[in-house]
Amino acid sequence: MPELPEIEALAAFLREHAVGRTVIRSDVAAFSVIKTFDPPLTALNGLTVTGANRYGKFLALEVDGLHLVTHLSRAGWLQWREKLSPSPPKPGRGPLAFRLHLAPSPESDADPDAPPAGFDLTEAGTQKRLAVYLVRDPLEVPGIARLGPDAMRVDLEAFAALLAAERAQIKGVLTTQSVLAGIGNAYSDEILHAAKLSPFAIAARLTEAQVSTLYTAMRATLTDAVTRSVGQRAATLKSEKRSGLAVHARTGLPCPVCGDTVREVSFADKSLQYCPTCQTGGKNLADRRLSRLVK
Ligand SMILES: [Zn+2]
Repeated sequence: MPELPEIEALAAFLREHAVGRTVIRSDVAAFSVIKTFDPPLTALNGLTVTGANRYGKFLALEVDGLHLVTHLSRAGWLQWREKLSPSPPKPGRGPLAFRLHLAPSPESDADPDAPPAGFDLTEAGTQKRLAVYLVRDPLEVPGIARLGPDAMRVDLEAFAALLAAERAQIKGVLTTQSVLAGIGNAYSDEILHAAKLSPFAIAARLTEAQVSTLYTAMRATLTDAVTRSVGQRAATLKSEKRSGLAVHARTGLPCPVCGDTVREVSFADKSLQYCPTCQTGGKNLADRRLSRLVK
């Protein structure tokens, strides 16, 4: 799932490639992705793209006062197309969910007869959860209205206060968007590894020193990932993300810090990865879901 660094990179990419272009039209290939009806998508036609922003893990294209917002969910992606065929896509086939056609920028020297560029929003797999909203204010999107402070903008004092209020496992707290916006399963594993904290530690019980270490690790991990991601083309973002990971999705491989074997344990409906030597004093975390089944 794309998280804060990947969405930040996609916003930067759209600022560079989409801003200044005029919307020709949008195609909806999977009708379930459109979550709003007023204004209609046709309201975009003829308007100029004026900006691109990130709200937590939401990506928003600013189009002359309107906001075309998307949540890519677990298997969604944005693919930029230098050339787009004008014929509409066949609905319900393949991963394509939504397509935006953009005219060449009027200020560029581009050939006015050049084919339109634009982007596709695609979603792999059978679970379709990608969402698109067209709103006059990003806060009209319920998921954006609920967001806690952004992980890249929260200061240490506010971060400490929000952890102190959570009597839940830190892994879950870091990934709850209404508490802290932008972090998902992959970067929470990486941040906890960098901070040498157990994913099952209770947030409210962390010491002042642990909170401060966690904050520093969060900022360093995200800043590093944003730096590596911005400037990458959308197509190479996923491999760039993977290459920077120390523990996430690396079960059975050596920890790059201490050489211990990275372990996996189930958490909520997913699994998380951690290094016992770095994070849990050498102890393996109990897989509660499995032990329940065994009983
Ligand atoms: Zn380690």
